[in-house]
Amino acid sequence: MAEIRVENLHKAFGEFVAVRDSNFTVADGEFFVMLGPSGCGKTTTLRMIAGLELPTSGRILLGGDDVTFNRAAARDIAFVFQLFALYPHMNVRKNIGFPLKCQGMPASEIRTRVEETARFLRIDHLLNQPVSRLAGGDRQRVALGRAIVRRPMAFLMDEPLGTLDTEFRDLMVRELRELHLRINATTVYVTHDQLEAMAMADKIAVMNRGVIEQFATPQEIYDQPATMFVADFIGSPPMNFLPFRSGLRAGAVSVRVNGADITVPKLVEDLAETELALGVRPEHIRFDDHSRLRGTVFGAEYLGTTQIVTVTTEHGPVKARLPADVPARPGETVGLALRPERLSIFDRGSGRALRTALHEGRRHG
Ligand code: ATP
Repeated sequence: MAEIRVENLHKAFGEFVAVRDSNFTVADGEFFVMLGPSGCGKTTTLRMIAGLELPTSGRILLGGDDVTFNRAAARDIAFVFQLFALYPHMNVRKNIGFPLKCQGMPASEIRTRVEETARFLRIDHLLNQPVSRLAGGDRQRVALGRAIVRRPMAFLMDEPLGTLDTEFRDLMVRELRELHLRINATTVYVTHDQLEAMAMADKIAVMNRGVIEQFATPQEIYDQPATMFVADFIGSPPMNFLPFRSGLRAGAVSVRVNGADITVPKLVEDLAETELALGVRPEHIRFDDHSRLRGTVFGAEYLGTTQIVTVTTEHGPVKARLPADVPARPGETVGLALRPERLSIFDRGSGRALRTALHEGRRHG
């Protein structure tokens, strides 16, 4: 079993803490994505799992065994650095077999393994071709073949699609996800790209300044962001925040934002008066003449079937995703209705989301 378990993992470089007290478990066969901006500690975490960096404290368990102080080579993990750097002077067979040759595996066994892998990826007819003559999709499959030929317990991938153009990347995202569904190997994948993460992950850890802000499924991360950072990092455009100041009582089902009463998911905690923010995704806003939440249309970005309309309000600019045929003329005054059951409320001091029926509902199915 290739469960990866990280317990109180901590990494400091001198005074600087790159990874702070991380705890998570990647279940056997899960595709796990570490997502966050540059410098948040993703690569450092991955390198500790790989055995390329020693933690300052904490433990790493692979399939239940404590591997924290094992050398990289003693961990049955494949670290995929650059998925696309094939060796141009070698043919397909030699490219795929290269990792096994490095391990010192006998030639006859390499031959069998390479042929099995090539059949699996449906490139067995290309084995003797030079890689320089292959089409893009086949080159990617050769690269994947080289990664999976070792049959490790787990794969670690650090921004493997980093340098690809968008079209190629979308294709590879699909290929990688499909491959994962077929071989079901535990995978830890690092990216700063939310679209890659949302498209591939079973679970995502969103990291910020060395801390995991949320560890959950893509849907939970999107619908119930645990912090303002997560809400802002995920989604395009990201969640809107309407700042307000208030105390809150458990059981309340509305909040007062600058004179407008807004229905929200039922609160499950009391809070003394403090600075708060109402969080609403652009697709949960519509125009409604009767709403007391008002603003002026600033402009609209046409996206075919939808449009992103920017409305200037006293809370700052608000972006709404509306059907493309909704009139949105710059300068026009509009009312904004927010979909009550999808709103989040954040404590602006800590950035944390308050617990509401939104979370309780999901938790119970
Ligand atoms: P990126 O995508 O830019 O690599 P990341 O989230 O993977 O970002 P890390 O590479 O883990 O971030 O780095 C986290 C922080 O730790 C960064 O500020 C980096 O400068 C610092 N850091 C990483 N390795 C070292 C090192 N060997 N010595 C000192 N600081 C380091």
